[in-house]
Amino acid sequence: MAIHDGDRIVYLVTGASRGIGLEYVKQLLERGDSVIAAARNPDNSGGLTTLAERHESQLTLVTMDVADPASIKAAATSISEAFPGGIDVLINNAGISGNLVMSSEQDEDEFRDILMINTLGPFLVTKAFLPLIRKGSKKQIVNISSGLGSIATAAQYLNGGASKHGVLKGADSPMARRQLGYRASKAALNMTTVALAVDLQEEGIILIAMCPGWVDTDMGSGTAGMLGVAKPPLTAPTSVAMQLKVVDGLTLEKSGTYFNHEGNIVPF
Ligand code: NDP
Repeated sequence: MAIHDGDRIVYLVTGASRGIGLEYVKQLLERGDSVIAAARNPDNSGGLTTLAERHESQLTLVTMDVADPASIKAAATSISEAFPGGIDVLINNAGISGNLVMSSEQDEDEFRDILMINTLGPFLVTKAFLPLIRKGSKKQIVNISSGLGSIATAAQYLNGGASKHGVLKGADSPMARRQLGYRASKAALNMTTVALAVDLQEEGIILIAMCPGWVDTDMGSGTAGMLGVAKPPLTAPTSVAMQLKVVDGLTLEKSGTYFNHEGNIVPF
């Protein structure tokens, strides 16, 4: 495990094995930052071990399942030993989307799993790593949310209203009536973000919710067929480069905001 030398900005990225999380790791390494890549199985995913060999002084791998409190605690203990100076930016990225069934048919067990991974997981990771974030210089926490977690946007589909607002494809968009578990988990993550932002603002800790756009990853491509498009419009490299511009520009005054990758504010 790499030992923090104190010179670099330190980022912790969850769900780093593939998709958006892995792309965060690659771009942060490329620009010279120190990265802790947390994954359920870091030795066997996304080429993380190869990256760690290539960027030995910059990349630290840690095992963390965000649905398992013991795993989060163990990761926090090992990282606090390796990084006594703290961490600067936490990217709570790990997530699952669930099946694309109609909202009224959302499976109970799947709903519970989604809430555990997408909502409780980021909260427990934040709680476990807060002592390290308090020691860091940037004190930033980025919760990767989704536009699908916007209650304000979802409500626009009522009474045939979506076509009026130009949201997706109209009131009977195939997606608007699906993914209850995922939507609820991200809406709850948004509230978690704001509630913690309020609680921690006087300590100088910044929390935001970030919608990465519709990105061509394993998760993002799952909805393409249903919407009749070949693939999502954004690549992971483009989305993450844009997200990083937003993250780099964060100030305490922006804490509690729901941004998208373009830096625009998403309505809660
Ligand atoms: P992917 O499905 O490509 O990757 C999901 C990542 O989350 C994987 O690294 C996966 O690890 C990890 N993960 C899942 N469950 C756990 C767990 N219990 N503990 C630790 N890691 C876990 O998805 P994306 O990269 O597209 O999504 C990343 C984030 O972006 C998610 O929060 C998602 O909701 C959000 N998002 C994505 C959008 C898109 O269009 N792609 C749109 C809006 C939001 P493993 O390899 O072990 O399964």
